Amino acid sequence: LLFTSPFFAQCKRGDAYISNGVFIKDSVINEVCNLWQNYLHSKPDSLYDNPYWNSAEKKQYKYFDLLTQSEINNVYMYLPYYPPSILSINREGEYYRIRTLYSEHDSIFSDPIAITNVYAKREDGKFKLYNSLPIATSNWRRHTIGSITFIHPQYHTFNEKLAVRLSQFVDSIAFQMGSPTRQAEFYFADTFDELMRAQGFDYYLGEGNNNPAAGYCDSKNVIMYGGGVNEWFPHEFVHLYAVPKFPGADNYFHEGIATLLGGTRGYSLDWLIRHADTLLTVNKDFRIDSAFAEGEWGKYADIDYITGSSYIFGGLICKMLIEKGGWELLKKFGSYQGKESRYRILQEEFGVERKDTGTFIRKKITEYARK
Ligand SMILES: [Zn+2]
Repeated sequence: LLFTSPFFAQCKRGDAYISNGVFIKDSVINEVCNLWQNYLHSKPDSLYDNPYWNSAEKKQYKYFDLLTQSEINNVYMYLPYYPPSILSINREGEYYRIRTLYSEHDSIFSDPIAITNVYAKREDGKFKLYNSLPIATSNWRRHTIGSITFIHPQYHTFNEKLAVRLSQFVDSIAFQMGSPTRQAEFYFADTFDELMRAQGFDYYLGEGNNNPAAGYCDSKNVIMYGGGVNEWFPHEFVHLYAVPKFPGADNYFHEGIATLLGGTRGYSLDWLIRHADTLLTVNKDFRIDSAFAEGEWGKYADIDYITGSSYIFGGLICKMLIEKGGWELLKKFGSYQGKESRYRILQEEFGVERKDTGTFIRKKITEYARK
């Protein structure tokens, strides 16, 4: 009978499945459900003045739906492959929380990529959509120092000394890049999953495990996320300034400069070099040449879990460049486009032929590690 109800039929239009647990006979629930479905059909993965989103957040954030700027990329990009199921619509104070599962199905199992939370509230009498982040973090502590607003859960005691250190670091990066400082929001917590939760991910593919220090830079909205870190979080802030300045640069430039200046996963580049030297001494069969060529995202070519190719090799190249010719030489590498530039800069500045890259890199790792 439920399936033949006119309310259900009305709400079923489009591609979203509505769980039988969502009581759409309630006119308000139905209105919220329709709003969300309309939004899902309004090309949410592209940026325009979307009529279903609230106006305050459209003013505050350039890419106002923060689920489009996440660790797992733009969640709506997956809609054709992971169709949405609306799981629940819960009233929470003045808001309604809409929980949606994005999942692939076969006849028996479900393979979800995410469960998201988005909120609805009336604006001038009509329901509009709201991000989870400001609602979920409304009782977090906020401190503004220089260009950065530090935002953290109440269980953390703010360390002003480290915050000042980060603020000064950011000022110096901006100066070196010749960019004005950007007013940034920096959310940090004990785990990255907490931040994803706050951003609106009830679940995401890859959550949990042995969550080490991890970060994400939403460069478009100037929001930084750091999990398992404290106020001193330089790596992602390097990206915040280097990415817009050198948008076409090789990933080895971007991860290299961020690791050189800010370390990665809580380790310094020097530590990473010593660690790689030890690993490579043990693992003599490791093919540096293919790892060096591959490592666009460091995913399949990593020496180990924490030693991603772009961090160690990119970091090494950037270190050699800054020692040889300072920031100007580093920026020259950044001005080159794409993956080929890692070979081009080694050739131009250190006379390394492409076929000798692996041997050269291995030699340099040993040199720096044993200094
Ligand atoms: Zn990075």
